[in-house]
Amino acid sequence: MKKVMILGSTGSIGTQTLDVIRRNEDMEVVSLAVRSNIRVLKEQVRKYHPRLVCVYEKEKALEFEKTVSGEVEVVSGMEGLVACATMTEGNIVVAAIVGMIGIRPVMEAIRAGKDIAFANKETLVTAGHLIMPLVKEKGVKLLPVDSEHAAIFMCLNGEKKEEVSKIWLTASGGPFRGKKREELENVTVEEALHHPNWSMGKKITIDSATMVNKGLEVIEARWLFSMSFDKIQVILQPQSVIHSMVEYNDGAVLAQLGTPDMRLPIEYALCYPERRERIGEPLDFTKLSEITFENPDLETFRGLSLAYEAGRIGGSMPTVFNAANEKAVALFLDRKISYLSMAELIEEMMKLHTPVKNPSLEEILEVEKEIHKRMEDKY
Ligand code: NAD
Ligand code: MG
Repeated sequence: MKKVMILGSTGSIGTQTLDVIRRNEDMEVVSLAVRSNIRVLKEQVRKYHPRLVCVYEKEKALEFEKTVSGEVEVVSGMEGLVACATMTEGNIVVAAIVGMIGIRPVMEAIRAGKDIAFANKETLVTAGHLIMPLVKEKGVKLLPVDSEHAAIFMCLNGEKKEEVSKIWLTASGGPFRGKKREELENVTVEEALHHPNWSMGKKITIDSATMVNKGLEVIEARWLFSMSFDKIQVILQPQSVIHSMVEYNDGAVLAQLGTPDMRLPIEYALCYPERRERIGEPLDFTKLSEITFENPDLETFRGLSLAYEAGRIGGSMPTVFNAANEKAVALFLDRKISYLSMAELIEEMMKLHTPVKNPSLEEILEVEKEIHKRMEDKY
């Protein structure tokens, strides 16, 4: 029996993970962690019977505890998240929290010898230099759930990493593909939340509309596959059929294709190296009229070039990039800043920062605090 711990169970990845577990008889849930959505958590507890749940917000946790009366143990805060990620009987953690709040629980899970099905990219972007050596030291598996990274992982199966000449990281281009800066000045939150191909949480949907998501994924790929930035190239593939490609020294290019459905990478990460029954729709080539490619527009979508810049500088700069973005997205969703201000703010925060080499976890969290404070003072 595979015993699964889910951090972020009420989110887009979290609920799809539960769907995968429901369809596989040899998997069960041992813990669930959420931020505050106790209504959905309650349904999940009734259906999946975890032993432990964490509601990060303490007041909500207390409210929740009253309604479940002894059905399940309830914890809260960072300690609670760590408890959910390190349960003795658990085998694998699905890291599906949004944001760099996931760093500590993910690191503690690895320290406790748990495998990780990994979606929470912000954690690897900011703390990859701490996490990857820990993964090696503890001999655990870090299995990518992000669709592009799952695709790359499959294309690397059985091959030699030294023979890879390039990773082609595909991107849909989001809802504003083809638009110029002037056309993007007044876009609304609703327009930005309208992704053409994927249904996801709000934060990543906005990240897709600015292409910051692809920037975060470039840095994520750098850590997961220990590739230099020069070997990671982003290419738009608007139909989201090719989930990414790996090119080898001899010119061979391997790709993973499929309909856009996150349950495939989730299931693959949970069952690796086994493949299970298909859950989503099959890819029907007879009905597929075209697969097209475009170069990304780095002038308009500054977020992507800033990510390469932050990644190449390294140290604490990716934390600045990510922390500034997390705050900027929250401000945009609150309608306090415009769409274009998001990338401008990231750039401004990066310019003001003197990078620290090889930052410790405490330094990373300190930088995050500083950036958030600087941005809060502004608005
Ligand atoms: P979402 O907003 O739908 O869900 C986020 C989940 O995290 C919720 O369950 C929420 O309760 C939980 N959460 C947030 N803060 C928390 C805290 N402090 N403590 C405990 N739980 C907390 O987000 P999502 O779209 O599922 O994305 C999750 C992660 O997966 C992100 O890092 C995203 O970039 C990545 N990802 C998502 C998709 C997708 O298709 N949705 C694809 C690839 C990667
Ligand atoms: Mg992705």
